[in-house]
Amino acid sequence: MNDCIFCKIIAGEIPSRKKYEDDEIVIFEDIEPKAKIHLLCVPKDHFAYLTELDERRSALLGKTFSKIASFAPSFGLEKGYRLIVNQGDDAGQTVKHLHIHMMGGQELPF
Ligand code: AMP
Ligand code: ZN
Repeated sequence: MNDCIFCKIIAGEIPSRKKYEDDEIVIFEDIEPKAKIHLLCVPKDHFAYLTELDERRSALLGKTFSKIASFAPSFGLEKGYRLIVNQGDDAGQTVKHLHIHMMGGQELPF
């Protein structure tokens, strides 16, 4: 967990452009945006894979999606957005701390 870059962002040890934070999640700008608006929604609980979901984490993720839906318009995503959760090497998951990409601010060409 110690060398997890998202845990370091959550702990404030690495700077990020935070858009929202509460006791359960943080939302910040992706450092290499692949869309006009590209945010990362990161549960503060460190786990990498959906296979690690238990009852508590499932409830956390449910709330997380609900918050995403509530806050998306205030992030400029009122016309729609795409959520991506990369899982494992074939998906190109580079950070092994579960996160939800929020992409939009434009018509997505793919
Ligand atoms: P994934 O490929 O799904 O693991 O996505 C990881 C994402 O984290 C990539 O889109 C990176 O651009 C992004 N990323 C990596 N380091 C940082 C950082 N320090 N601040 C913001 N985003 C980052
Ligand atoms: Zn982590």
